[in-house]
Amino acid sequence: MSQGSDVHRDDVHRDQAQHDERGEAVAQGLARVRARIHEAAAVSGRLPEDVRLVVVTKFFPASDVRILASLGVTEVAENRHQEAQAKAEECADLGLAWHFVGGLQSNKAAAVARYSAAVHSLDRAKLVGPLDRGAGERGEPLDVLCQVSLDPPGADHRSGVEPDRLAALAERVAQADALRLRGLMAVAPLDEDPAAAFDRLAALREAFLRDHPGAGWLSAGMSGDLEQAVAVGATHVRVGSAVLGSRP
Ligand SMILES: *Cc1c(COP(=O)(O)O)cnc(C)c1O
Repeated sequence: MSQGSDVHRDDVHRDQAQHDERGEAVAQGLARVRARIHEAAAVSGRLPEDVRLVVVTKFFPASDVRILASLGVTEVAENRHQEAQAKAEECADLGLAWHFVGGLQSNKAAAVARYSAAVHSLDRAKLVGPLDRGAGERGEPLDVLCQVSLDPPGADHRSGVEPDRLAALAERVAQADALRLRGLMAVAPLDEDPAAAFDRLAALREAFLRDHPGAGWLSAGMSGDLEQAVAVGATHVRVGSAVLGSRP
């Protein structure tokens, strides 16, 4: 056998070993997060299957998405259009539901609607038209959550519609032909106890559900605060680093 093929064989073995090691690490992270969700649901008297785990794969390669799929993950999330589109295409054979959870630009919104099963981050009326158009072109309704800001009034806030403008925004989504208003999404502010922020979210949701009783999804909770989110009724937790490790 030539030296060349020996070297090649060593490469293949090393790649395989690295792949196995990564698979093992991801499996452990996933098991820990699933256990946390079970425990948090039990503490709140909820059923664990009523809390869906959406694994946030941003910055991680498509090979990690494949590992997740092999471990039974069916829902993944991304926060940037280009990366999301490329990964969704590369992993099209896996039949995953792709959730979009990042800041949306109105000139990209129609494109996002074409590969996403759900958009969690609708925060302004200007996005409704392009999302509706993209979903209409795809020929399948798009699940939409309104992202509501939990930052104190006047804060230099990160994202989300102001609570006093939520009702008008939700109404726009409800009127759109190809969009299905599913519920609310929020991110707890960095400088506050997440439980306090999620209490405000629960109150907003109560009022929201009076207008839209069918829109019961609540997307809240990340690696650091999923327990607090499950305690106030989160139906979807968006977890990245606790499953996949710190982002590369
Ligand atoms: C990155 C991200 C997450 C996941 O954050 P982790 O702390 O890694 O779990 C959740 N939601 C949104 C909107 C994100 O951008």
